[in-house]
Amino acid sequence: MDARHLSQRLLRVASYVPKNARLADIGSDHAYLPAYLGLNNQLAFGIAGEVVEGPYQNAVNEIKKEGLTNLIKARHADGLAVINNEDSIDVITICGMGGPLISEILEKGKLKLTTHPLLILQPNVGEKQVRNWLLINNYRIIAEEILAEDQHIYEIITAQYDEESFELTTEDLEFGPFLRQQKNTAFITKWQEELKKIKYVLEEMKKAKEFPSEQEQKMLAKIRRIEGILDD
Ligand code: SAM
Repeated sequence: MDARHLSQRLLRVASYVPKNARLADIGSDHAYLPAYLGLNNQLAFGIAGEVVEGPYQNAVNEIKKEGLTNLIKARHADGLAVINNEDSIDVITICGMGGPLISEILEKGKLKLTTHPLLILQPNVGEKQVRNWLLINNYRIIAEEILAEDQHIYEIITAQYDEESFELTTEDLEFGPFLRQQKNTAFITKWQEELKKIKYVLEEMKKAKEFPSEQEQKMLAKIRRIEGILDD
């Protein structure tokens, strides 16, 4: 993969970035996403933010290799700390990390969100935590996508700040308000696999001498929720 040959996952993320965006890609590693957008004349300005030295150097090299140094800046700092007021960032992408880390980055960087940039998030796991952060912080989910690539299933969540209050049900938070309506093949595969895993763990735990009934009840409730969505 490079900026000219993106994975399907990052291509789909790129499709949610509005044209002429002022983008901050956080946890950018090789800066493939901003570089791809820059090469395709989709960016007005870009930041490739990285906290780790090696991936930061990868970003520096990729941006240089593609002749994009005037358009995209590689910056070495933690989370949203790479964003300055004068950057006027209007889109933030955070991809390829766990939901808890994405939520932590957003929470720690809240001061950088006062201008309400569009958020395009691609958690590898823990999507519920991301949706919960969005709900608490008045970010309304406006699009969701789930796709399978190389034996993995990925979710992409796009959210826009909304002053109006809105709600998400337990099912919306867990399965995604759009994804659970669309129920495409990747969605069904993901939740069938999750169901199998929980049932297996439940059986194994039952064999253990001390199996807290509270935990059993939680797992049974989750099984019921997943079966409810799949059978709906
Ligand atoms: N975004 C790319 C993608 O989706 O292919 C790269 C994903 S890579 C698995 C995750 C990257 O996030 C790593 O390069 C890691 O160093 C970086 N990262 C993790 N925590 C970070 C943070 N707090 N701030 C900036 N970068 C972070």
